[in-house]
Amino acid sequence: MSGDGGEQLGLYGQELTEGHALARQQLARHGKDRYPTVELQAAKVCAEAGELMDAVLHHHYAAHGGRCTSPCQHTIAASIRKELADTALALYTLAGKLNVNLIECMAELVWNDERDFRPPQRLIIRTGEGDDHGSGHTDRRPR
Ligand SMILES: [Zn+2]
Repeated sequence: MSGDGGEQLGLYGQELTEGHALARQQLARHGKDRYPTVELQAAKVCAEAGELMDAVLHHHYAAHGGRCTSPCQHTIAASIRKELADTALALYTLAGKLNVNLIECMAELVWNDERDFRPPQRLIIRTGEGDDHGSGHTDRRPR
């Protein structure tokens, strides 16, 4: 991990590790797992996601004397950064308790996700006789 000079350092000069490692580090520092079962950990994820939503809404509606314009031009508030981290760490910890690699789960989903939410492309079908507005080709170019 270190010593090869290629490690990426974060804000605090610490080597950046992936989520599972950080979640384990956090748990080790706490010295006690306050959410020892999968069910309690899943509830913790929801609680943290709720706090994240709260921080985002506070920023959007209250933090700057009115509505924040979208996309936001402000520095992301420390409270939002904290809740993002809490939520992600809780999720990584949950994945660990389920004995699955979260990144692997996400990769699996992304690589197999074939949904396409772009608007449908224009489709022109030549009707034949008397059709003088078109080359006879089906136009699948985006609008
Ligand atoms: Zn903003």
